[in-house]
Amino acid sequence: MTDNSGNALLKIEALDVRYESGRSVWGLPRYKNVVHGVSFDVKPGQTFGLVGESGSGKSTIGKAVLRQVPIHAGSIRFDGHEIKDFPSQSAPLWYRKAVQVVFQNPLMSLNPRMLARDTVAEAVRFHTGMTGSALSGKVGDLFNDVGLPRKLGERYPRELSGGQQQRVAIARALASDPRLIVCDEAVSALDVSTQSHVMELLHKLQNERGVSYIFISHDLGVVRNICHEVGVLYQGRFVDVGMTDDVYGNPKHVYTRNLLDAVPKMPNFDRLQMA
Ligand code: ADP
Ligand code: MG
Repeated sequence: MTDNSGNALLKIEALDVRYESGRSVWGLPRYKNVVHGVSFDVKPGQTFGLVGESGSGKSTIGKAVLRQVPIHAGSIRFDGHEIKDFPSQSAPLWYRKAVQVVFQNPLMSLNPRMLARDTVAEAVRFHTGMTGSALSGKVGDLFNDVGLPRKLGERYPRELSGGQQQRVAIARALASDPRLIVCDEAVSALDVSTQSHVMELLHKLQNERGVSYIFISHDLGVVRNICHEVGVLYQGRFVDVGMTDDVYGNPKHVYTRNLLDAVPKMPNFDRLQMA
């Protein structure tokens, strides 16, 4: 097995998350446990993949990392800071800068009434306080970084293709110079060739910036291309976790084997060369 030790940027240990699901006849809250005892590390400059079918708890883990759902038990440490200690739903600003998110549907996460450049500028202004020519210069740099011609900044989200919209969402996430980005099904709505272009972009940004990703997908084929390590979730538990090649080459659990058997062979996908 490849040595992949080293200091973790994010360390999740025995994480349990549950949602309130109504009240009992006595008026007491009922809970539904959806994440059970999940542990994994995200290393600096690396990608950890979370895979599993719909409803297996992937987004819930992402939301726990973003401090958007209560952490019932266990621990999430970012660079040594315990996330559980942050007030619920309101992580400190330094953490909101350090940990960003890119969602599946950019049209839902971008403001339809804002030009693409203003969407990115708003985030840069919020995180850096830049104004005037410094601000427009930084926005131009971010457009370059994500491979978008600057003139597309004059368009509204609906006037951009799905891949271009997702590049705007990535540029906005980069505005705070994050150390970790949670990519929740970030390429799942895109067609196969756009998917591979956006994944190449994420990979390039990782090489340039040393940013880490938690890459969430229901699609094992996609995850294999970008992740150093992967965890396979089934009903809120890891049934397989480890280095991507080990999990794919020697899956321990029948659920992982079934998922792998269901992956269509995709000759268009060259594996990205990972550092
Ligand atoms: P995935 O991202 O793998 O599709 P989720 O993390 O979204 O899975 O959901 C895991 C489980 O938690 C599902 O059974 C889902 O119905 C449930 N769930 C998700 N969000 C909530 C919520 N806000 N309240 C109650 N149950 C939820
Ligand atoms: Mg989800």
